[in-house]
Parts: sequence; C-alpha cells; structure tokens
Amino acid sequence: MKRELLKKMLTLRLIFNLNPMKNLIYFPLLMLLFLNCKDDQKSSNAELNTDTIEDVDSATTKNTNEFAIVIHGGAGTILRKNMSAEDENAYNAKLEEAIRVGYDILKNGGSSLDAVEKTINVMENSPLFNAGKGAVFTNAGTNELDASIMDGKNLDAGASAGTKTVKNPINLARAVMEKSPHVMLSGEGAEQFAKDQGLEIVDPSYFYTEARFKALERVKASEESEAVRDKSAFYDPTIRDSKFGTVGCVALDKNGNLAAGTSTGGMTNKRWGRIGDAPIIGAGTYANNATCAVSSTGWGEYFIRAMVAHDISALMDYKGLSLQEAAKEVIQKKVPDLGGDGGIIAVDKDGNMVMEFNTEGMYRASMDASGNLTIGIYKD
Ligand code: ASP
Repeated sequence: MKRELLKKMLTLRLIFNLNPMKNLIYFPLLMLLFLNCKDDQKSSNAELNTDTIEDVDSATTKNTNEFAIVIHGGAGTILRKNMSAEDENAYNAKLEEAIRVGYDILKNGGSSLDAVEKTINVMENSPLFNAGKGAVFTNAGTNELDASIMDGKNLDAGASAGTKTVKNPINLARAVMEKSPHVMLSGEGAEQFAKDQGLEIVDPSYFYTEARFKALERVKASEESEAVRDKSAFYDPTIRDSKFGTVGCVALDKNGNLAAGTSTGGMTNKRWGRIGDAPIIGAGTYANNATCAVSSTGWGEYFIRAMVAHDISALMDYKGLSLQEAAKEVIQKKVPDLGGDGGIIAVDKDGNMVMEFNTEGMYRASMDASGNLTIGIYKD
C-alpha cells in the first residue's frame, strides 16, 4: 500500500518538475490522483482495522475455547413440575461431576477421546441415566446396551450394540475402534471381544434398577390397555418418554482434536434386538476435525433416518453453515418434519459449543477453557 502511494507521489512530482507551465492543465488530474490516494489510504486503514478486530476475535476465541466439553444425559418431556428438588439436585450434581472429569483431562493436555470416555463412564456408573447401570429394560426384561465413539482426527470409529454384560459399553466401543479391525460389534460376539480385551464384565443383574423396571411395567400395562402391540405402541408418547437418560459427550482438546461418544440402554420395552441411533456412526455419534463433534439423544428411529450427527457436520462442510445454524436446521426442522424429537450436543473445531433440542428438556452441561460451567435441564 505504501509503495502504491509513493508511486503516485512520484508521478505528481514528475508532472510538476517536467511541466511547471502546464500545472493548470494538470490540476484536475492532480486532484483526482490526490483523492484516489486518500481513498486508498482510507480503505487500507479499514483493512487494517478489520484485521486487527479479526485478530483480537480469533485470539479471544482461541483463548476462551482452546478446549471445550459438552455433555448430555438425555432429552424428552422433562418438566419442572414433575421433578422434585431432590431429583433436580441429584441430576445437577452428577452432570457437574461428570463434566469436571473430562474438563480436568482436557485442561491437563489430555486427549478429547480420553475426556469423552471417562466423562461418559461417570454417567454410565450412575443409576440416574439410561446408560450403563441405569439402562432401561427390554420387553423381555433384559438390559441391552449400545454405545459408540468417534475420533475426529482420523475418522476412526467404534461401536457396540445389544450387549448385556459389559459394565461400560463406551469402553467397549473404544476397544472396538482401537483394538479390532471393525467398526461395530454386536451381542455375544461383542461380549466375547470385551472379555478378551479385559474389560469389566458384570452379571446382567447389575443393570437392575427398580425405577427402570417399574417403567417397563408401566409401559407394558399401557400397551395392554390400549391393546396395541405393533409398531404404533412403541411410538406411543408414554412409551417414548420412559427412556430418558441416554448419555453423550463431545470434546475439543488442546491439540485441536475433536471426539464424540454416546452410550444408552435404548428405549424401554424394545424388542426383536432393536438397535437405536446411539451406536450408529453418523446418526448418534460423529466427529471430524474439519467440522465438529456431535452426540445425539432422542427418538432413535428418526435420528437414524435423518443421519442427524453427520448431517450437522455435512451442512457445515458443504454449505458453510456455522455449527449453531447447522444444529438448528437439523434439530428444529429436519427431525420434527419427519415426526421425531430429541436433541444434540456439539462442539466445533474452534470450540463453539451447542446444546440444541426440540423437546421440553435435555439434561446437559458445558464447560469452556476458562472453566465457565453451564448446567441445564429444562427448555427455559
Ligand atoms: N436415542 C436413543 C435410542 O433411540 C434413546 C434416547 O436417546 O433417549 O435408543
């Protein structure tokens, strides 16, 4: 820019020196050049200012969100009026305990994969959530658990479906990703692999909780009273809403690596080996360092059909949408247009965090690099 200005000054001098007598003729031209210089100067200042603002912004973004973590503990018709103060405190405390585990890992320079796995373990080991210990019951009175994990650095992924004896299915998903040539294992084979890997195996009775068993009885009773046993019973609101508590975690670490994981017991009263979205890469879980990391919760059949987690990433990738825009598009439009409900948590490569849901509530929490913690349950 300075060189440009010098060139123009030189031209002016040349005109003056060589043709002092023709000043009058050149005067309008000189004025034009002068104004032009001023304009250039202005725009160069503007450019400079913008650059400065952008630098400050991105520096702030980097500082604030050098790493970030978001969790969910399921979405659904979670209403304040149905929740006792005691329950509310218990959920808030567990969400905070879980997210702080991941936050500390990230703060100490640990990987987003470790943060995701260890954070999910806390929720899996609590009876509050529909994952691990608190998994819902199938129609046969068993607990069949699903989980998946994805590494945004290389798009590696692992998943397990329908296991009955693995204490922490998210650990199994990670083992599938890192120690097997496959992406998804199911049932007895997955359990055998877990044993071979030395993962903790429990008796199926470990997953019994009174609250979840009562929920199964309630759902079965409502099914009978309506005398509907087909697909539509499964789609009944009472049935759908007795499954709260799928858990998920997404994280960005200090090395810029994104990871996502999801773990669930699925839906109460499920049968025929039903598998939901949680263990399906692209539906329940997705992570890509180029875009974002997403974990879903909600009505799995719809989340599979809408390929929710990957769709959010794809909207950012192909359409240039921000994470917030992409999440809104999928959760507030695509999924409800199909007839489904639920929500997602996500973090993008710059550490922007999103918790989007179209239900009455979603158990959720987020923490940025400065340690700012938000915890939420209800819509407002
Ligand atoms: N998405 C889970 C499933 O369909 C359930 C949930 O997230 O509430 O299995």
